[in-house]
Amino acid sequence: MTKKWVYRFDELDEVEAYVGGSWDGVKGLLGGKGANLAEMARIGVPVPPGFIITTEACNKYLSLGERLPKGLWSQLGEALKSIEKSSGKKFGDPHNPLLLSCRSGARFSMPGMMDTVLNVGLNEETVEGMIALSRDARFVYDLYRRLIQMFGNVVMHIPDEKFEAALSNTRKAAGVKTDADLAAEHWMAVTGEFKKIFRFHTHHEFPTEPYAQLQMATEAVFMSWNSKRAIAYRNAAGIAHDIGTAVNIVAMVYGNMGDDSATGVALTRSGTTGEKKIEGDYLTNAQGEDVVAGIRQTKDISELQTEMPKVHGEFLKVAALLEKHYRDMQDVEFTIEKGKLWMLQTRDGKRTSQAAVRIAVDMADEGLISREEAVMRISPEQIDFFLHPQFDNDALKVAKASGKLLAKGLNVSPGAAVGVVALDADLAERWGKQENKPVIMVRPETKPDDVHGMLAAQGILTSRGGRTSHAALVARQFGKPAVVGVTELEIDFTRRQLKVGDVIIREGEYISVDGTAGEVYVGEMTTKDPDMKDVSLLKILSWADDFRTLGVWANSDYPVDAKRAREYGAEGIGLCRTEHMFMETERLPLVQKMIMADMEVHRNEAIQALLPFQREDFSGLFRVMDGLPVVIRLIDPPLHEFLPDHISLIRDLADLKIQLQHALRLEDIDTLLQQVREKERILHRVESLREENPMLGMRGVRLGNHLPELTKMQVRAIFEAACIVSREGVDVRPEVMIPLTSHVNELKVQRELLEFEAQRVMEEQGMEINYKFGTMIEIPRAALTADQIAEYADFFSFGTNDLTQTTFGISRDDAESGFLIEYIMQGILPANPFETIDKNGVGELMRIAAQKGRQTKPELKLGICGEHGGEPRSIEICHNLGLNYVSCSPFRVPVARLAAARAALKFKMQTITWEADKETETAR
Ligand code: ADP
Ligand code: MG
Ligand code: MG
Repeated sequence: MTKKWVYRFDELDEVEAYVGGSWDGVKGLLGGKGANLAEMARIGVPVPPGFIITTEACNKYLSLGERLPKGLWSQLGEALKSIEKSSGKKFGDPHNPLLLSCRSGARFSMPGMMDTVLNVGLNEETVEGMIALSRDARFVYDLYRRLIQMFGNVVMHIPDEKFEAALSNTRKAAGVKTDADLAAEHWMAVTGEFKKIFRFHTHHEFPTEPYAQLQMATEAVFMSWNSKRAIAYRNAAGIAHDIGTAVNIVAMVYGNMGDDSATGVALTRSGTTGEKKIEGDYLTNAQGEDVVAGIRQTKDISELQTEMPKVHGEFLKVAALLEKHYRDMQDVEFTIEKGKLWMLQTRDGKRTSQAAVRIAVDMADEGLISREEAVMRISPEQIDFFLHPQFDNDALKVAKASGKLLAKGLNVSPGAAVGVVALDADLAERWGKQENKPVIMVRPETKPDDVHGMLAAQGILTSRGGRTSHAALVARQFGKPAVVGVTELEIDFTRRQLKVGDVIIREGEYISVDGTAGEVYVGEMTTKDPDMKDVSLLKILSWADDFRTLGVWANSDYPVDAKRAREYGAEGIGLCRTEHMFMETERLPLVQKMIMADMEVHRNEAIQALLPFQREDFSGLFRVMDGLPVVIRLIDPPLHEFLPDHISLIRDLADLKIQLQHALRLEDIDTLLQQVREKERILHRVESLREENPMLGMRGVRLGNHLPELTKMQVRAIFEAACIVSREGVDVRPEVMIPLTSHVNELKVQRELLEFEAQRVMEEQGMEINYKFGTMIEIPRAALTADQIAEYADFFSFGTNDLTQTTFGISRDDAESGFLIEYIMQGILPANPFETIDKNGVGELMRIAAQKGRQTKPELKLGICGEHGGEPRSIEICHNLGLNYVSCSPFRVPVARLAAARAALKFKMQTITWEADKETETAR
């Protein structure tokens, strides 16, 4: 038996059996569009009859060197017969002709593939038959000219401008403005013109045999799989080249049969805000792509309710049915033929981050999906969106009151964008990328050729187009704020300026675009940090909290940061860097004095002078974090970082000496001499502290052991603060963290000393504080000997930045500005290990440390405080390692809460093993 290459829409059960039941398999064989057409037919949505030529047929056709596989054409004939039967029309029949659309559709939606050809099957005879039936010559010639135009353009690659030019000549000659005003005889003449164009460009007559049309169109779809554009897109999107495209052959329904006919596109919920309200555009008396082409101004779907209330009601029912079935917001294409609704496509709709969150939450609340699914549907990047700026509400009011509101349009992609006007994509790219200027790209409408400019712009503004226009879709996809369809906006390319009423804005001048409200303002408006008050966002995060097992803490050095972290949901401070406090103006001289002191008494004096400052810092942090743990890391960087740098010291000294040579007055000479001596003293100390590799030198616990008075002072400050704040009634939970341990004895010595000091403070104060001592794990030796180290640590916190540096033996600053980019581009490294944890190396050390540490001390608390703690993939690794918490920047806390929940749910669903999850090491 020959293979089955063709499946009718009503043969979906057979397809499922063939692919083994999975929906992914169905989509693989039928393509996304075909699978959904068949599925819609199965669940009772009105879909015109049709069939699908499989992706296997496409692959076979290509492998045979562009020849139709055996049996395909006869199977197609059979399938066609069944459509003829159900439609009561016949393909090629001069009296009652069936027309078809021929549509490509791969498994993934893929620009660059062949466009659809409508009205296949028309020729001189069938045209006559249709005119006799419809008694509408205008309608039929409109169909015919569209066929020649689409066939010529899509199948024969004749530039569309040629056809458009002929059309515009006809309009001029007829003295009308739009196509709608052209009469039957005009369309007839246009058809003749189009045939001439066809002949001129292809040296062939337009094929009049319906089956020949169908075959050429089908083969053109197959061949378009290997078009340059399609290959480039697949490369960019990482789609395999061997999956092929299906061809959908569908009986035509006509949206251009008069005022009770229409064609349109819609989303079942708002793609901008997620509101449960159908959003879309349609055109009465139009066909196919007219809506998205921006030829005529479209109508909002809400107008359908008054224009065709019955169809509108039916549309609502279909939309609800589709959502219930697909359990997601749908993006649909439809046509209304003489008051009857037909669905021509459905797929999951694109949406903004804001809409994604709202839709997931609403659908869970409506019982369409579970809360787990809702959480899994939201990506960490979508949460991140909420943390980005919007326009300040008050600033908006002021701007409106002072007449700065320039125009209103459709709010198709939210967010605030400020920039200078650029009127074409190349300029937008040049200003945005090379000159680093913020740019708003302004166009009548956008095309695929404009994408590079859109990417370089902060925001996008167009005068035409609807919610489903190219500009809207691209902007949404890339998270660029955009306003489209600003009809009052006149773009003058000769004068390079915009005009709204009598306001003129020249190219290069500032405007502000509010993609959330759909408004455009003159000048530069201020943006403000978002407040995380979105109801749906708060809900999804609270659900995430229910599912995650990892704690989410924050890295904060100051009470203000800690406060924000708490507001964002942090459950502790995982890293407070005490040295940041040393850098402040009042304190730095004391720190320098401490470093410069020759005698121990002097040094201790300086150290003691720092105590009250540190005590204050810690008290503030403890108060904010009432009831939650605060991990304070003792001094970590090498001391020279607190002194002026060597080169500037030498330069200053040289300057002073020159001044000294020229000084005449005795008192000047005196002060200058003093200054020279002081500089020399500092220089000597800097030189004595100078190390070849300071990052691998006297720092961390080594410094603590070298200058115990310093870390003792810090511990005293921590515990004095804890006692003071505790007396105020605050629940204090300090955790002292010792950095950079590599050998257990370093930690043992330091901890004994410090814990003794802590005890002393508590005795002096007559109080008991609940505290922990622990260490960072950021040196491979510490990870490998974690069983010993755990004896002296109540907790480990992975410092994955230093751990990555010491594991790879590379310095981050040198690597990131040097060879690392080359490595990633060449595929030598799969990713930047400073961005996402290198699972096989650094991750493996973490695994060993966790396992050995808990072997010694089962209750050992494990966390991570490197920047990786806020990165989703790294969070997943931390979850799988059984860490207790991740700690990250306050701004990453909401993202980390979601990522931790997703990691937990994923782990639960798939029971991933550590080994199976390893990254492949083979170079690309
Ligand atoms: P794309 O993948 O570019 O959206 P489609 O194959 O969905 O291309 O076709 C584009 C449009 O052509 C559809 O939205 C619809 O308006 C029109 N169309 C396709 N098939 C038919 C048909 N059988 N009857 C009427 N219109 C059709
Ligand atoms: Mg479509
Ligand atoms: Mg470190």
